[in-house]
Amino acid sequence: MRATCLIIAFLIPITGSFHLTSRLTLSSAPFSSYARPHSARLSAATLPPPPTTKTVVTVNESSQDFVFGLNDDLVRERGRKTLVLEGDDLTTKPYQILLVTFTFLIQFLLSTSAITSIFHSHASPLLSLLLTTTTILTTYTLADLGSGIFHWSVDNYGNSKTPILGNIIAAFQGHHTAPWTITERGFCNNVHKLCYPFGVLLPGLSYFMGNTGVGLLSLTLFCWFEVMSQELHKWTHQTSAETNKTINWLQKNNLILSRKTHNKHHTMPFDGNYCIVSGWNNGWLDRSGFLRWMELRIWERNGVESNSWKLDEGLKERTMRGEFRPE
Ligand SMILES: [Zn+2]
Ligand SMILES: [Zn+2]
Repeated sequence: MRATCLIIAFLIPITGSFHLTSRLTLSSAPFSSYARPHSARLSAATLPPPPTTKTVVTVNESSQDFVFGLNDDLVRERGRKTLVLEGDDLTTKPYQILLVTFTFLIQFLLSTSAITSIFHSHASPLLSLLLTTTTILTTYTLADLGSGIFHWSVDNYGNSKTPILGNIIAAFQGHHTAPWTITERGFCNNVHKLCYPFGVLLPGLSYFMGNTGVGLLSLTLFCWFEVMSQELHKWTHQTSAETNKTINWLQKNNLILSRKTHNKHHTMPFDGNYCIVSGWNNGWLDRSGFLRWMELRIWERNGVESNSWKLDEGLKERTMRGEFRPE
């Protein structure tokens, strides 16, 4: 049941997009200006800002067809602060600090309660420790896969007008156009948007419905890792001089998302390497062709094309022929 709920949560932006997104005329200029070639030397997954440095990207959202970064309404004005969305702000606001603090506090209390319950349920502390450790590692791996499916859904479907997730969708799609802005965000500014879909609602409800132990721990940690995915993502866009030694060591040993792995996502048409927690699931997920298969099912059922299709006609044609695996 829990897995079903999570899958439904991932599909919210997709269902929202069925009514709001229609086919667009492709303008790939904003992407092609900044897409990094595969062979480029890697120091961070972010290209430096354009030479004029400070840029504001304003958008005309009057049309329901608007998909951030994919149409000609994108206007770059020189000489102003680096923002992605009109109304977006890189400075951390008190409400963002409050939201993140509240979310993390509740998630910490729920996790502590779940671990206590595990230790009370088993006579052997060693068995409890083993169960807790296994749950944490399994959830960390599943959260990476979850981040990939969520990232794929918001990159490819919906727009800023999509109910509930509109801001997140605009932020993810806009990130392809101006990836460096994430490095200028403080922690709470960066992660607070994910507190809405992955905050305390699901684990909190689960707790009050009597879920304890392994079930509560995995659900709570899953949500926490999803919120943290944006910070893990941010570290890949910073240079090793900007992140501390521990983060660099974890990235180097592939224990968290590495710069090298995430860099592969920032290449047109942004059709792979979506997982942004550890990146462990990117290889098999992309090789399986599962996401292409999903895109075809969505198109057959609703006539909605993924944004990756709009950016790459060849990808669209291959997927429509049933060739789901990468070439
Ligand atoms: Zn993306
Ligand atoms: Zn990125």
